[in-house]
Amino acid sequence: MFLDEVKVNVASGRGGDGVVHFRREKYVPRGGPDGGDGGRGGDVIVRVDPKLSSLSPFRRKHHFRAEDGRPGGGSNKTGRDGEACELMVPPGTVVFDAASGAILGDLTAPGQTLRVCRGGRGGRGNARYATSRNQAPRMAERGEPSEERWLRFELRLIADIGIIGVPNAGKSTLLSVLTRARPKIADYPFTTLTPNLGIAELDDKTTFVLADIPGLIEGAHEGTGLGARFLRHIRRTRALIHLIDGLSEDPVADYAQINTELALFDERLSELPQIVAVNKLDLPDVQQRWESIQGAFGAAGVEVRGISAVAHQGVLELAWEAYRALEEAPSPPPEPADLPVYRPEQDFRRFQIVRDPDGTWRVRGKAVERAADMTYWEYDEAVRRFQKTLSKLGVEQALKEAGAKTGDSVRIGDYELEWQD
Ligand code: GDP
Ligand code: MG
Repeated sequence: MFLDEVKVNVASGRGGDGVVHFRREKYVPRGGPDGGDGGRGGDVIVRVDPKLSSLSPFRRKHHFRAEDGRPGGGSNKTGRDGEACELMVPPGTVVFDAASGAILGDLTAPGQTLRVCRGGRGGRGNARYATSRNQAPRMAERGEPSEERWLRFELRLIADIGIIGVPNAGKSTLLSVLTRARPKIADYPFTTLTPNLGIAELDDKTTFVLADIPGLIEGAHEGTGLGARFLRHIRRTRALIHLIDGLSEDPVADYAQINTELALFDERLSELPQIVAVNKLDLPDVQQRWESIQGAFGAAGVEVRGISAVAHQGVLELAWEAYRALEEAPSPPPEPADLPVYRPEQDFRRFQIVRDPDGTWRVRGKAVERAADMTYWEYDEAVRRFQKTLSKLGVEQALKEAGAKTGDSVRIGDYELEWQD
């Protein structure tokens, strides 16, 4: 099954811990601090692989995690960085933050990348904390925690020309005739649940990407039908082949209905040039009606041509005409948002203080919880440093104002501290 939308969970690697270590040399009772920094955690990167054409690699696997950074060592050894985790996606993949719905990137070019989670910074080792006043710091920093988030990938196939029309008009058949794509072809409506893409080669130098857009049914613009899900694949097309079922009772009504759906879904689409073709002209029934069909369209001011997809009649001429329309069409519109880079959260430093029924204070906030996570609680100096961070972030002041008293418990993330005024 063709997959055009998936949700994946990604996490960067956490930073390796910095270490407290002192040089040990023969005959030297206690050397200077030489604890190294932790390595950086791996990033999570989304990368365009032009060989892919669907999101099916994500059908079974939904969780991806980059490698953690390694801890530092003695002799100022920095820990090894964690490997990045790369997710390969086909061109035309739009990456959303699943929680907020924000577009993080629109990946179209082969090799294009997007960093979606930053690896945690390695913690600093005690060698970094040596000063003239403190030559033997018993203090280091733990690695920065990883970032985790849910992403939503949406594949928007990049087709130059779309084939639209009511079910059974012969769209899939036409696509298979004009390209090497082998879509499902059947006799009843809505069988083709997946959009199909193919490359039409008119001659050595003339090719275009053609999409069969199935499932365009009444109510599609409201998201009730199958249509809405697939219509987005033609958001970037520049011309449409509107295929009419020659066997239909009222071909002009079909035509009008499809165009109404288009306009309701997306105004731009409804303004694209359309080449209208009546299909199944190989059938005697259709041949008999051909003149009256032509007349009815003529009365509506629409020029139509007759083809037979099955008999390969008039299809090449149709393709050439579509190609000419493409050349005359303006270049495709930019995507709704263009945010190729990773954006850190704006409210990183914000925090919130609440009081639990048992009297414990609870401080919630990304920056403050992260600082707590990076603290080695067994080293006094590290704890003092954490206190400084609390005051810098304004947590100390806020707790005081909220009425925290000496001896009260304060919980930050997984840690519980005793408040001292
Ligand atoms: P879609 O729903 O628009 O994709 O239509 P399909 O390509 O699946 O075709 C629907 C039915 O119409 C199938 O039974 C096809 O074999 C048939 N069909 C398609 N094109 C022609 C044609 O040119 N002549 C005839 N006689 N039948 C056709
Ligand atoms: Mg079809």
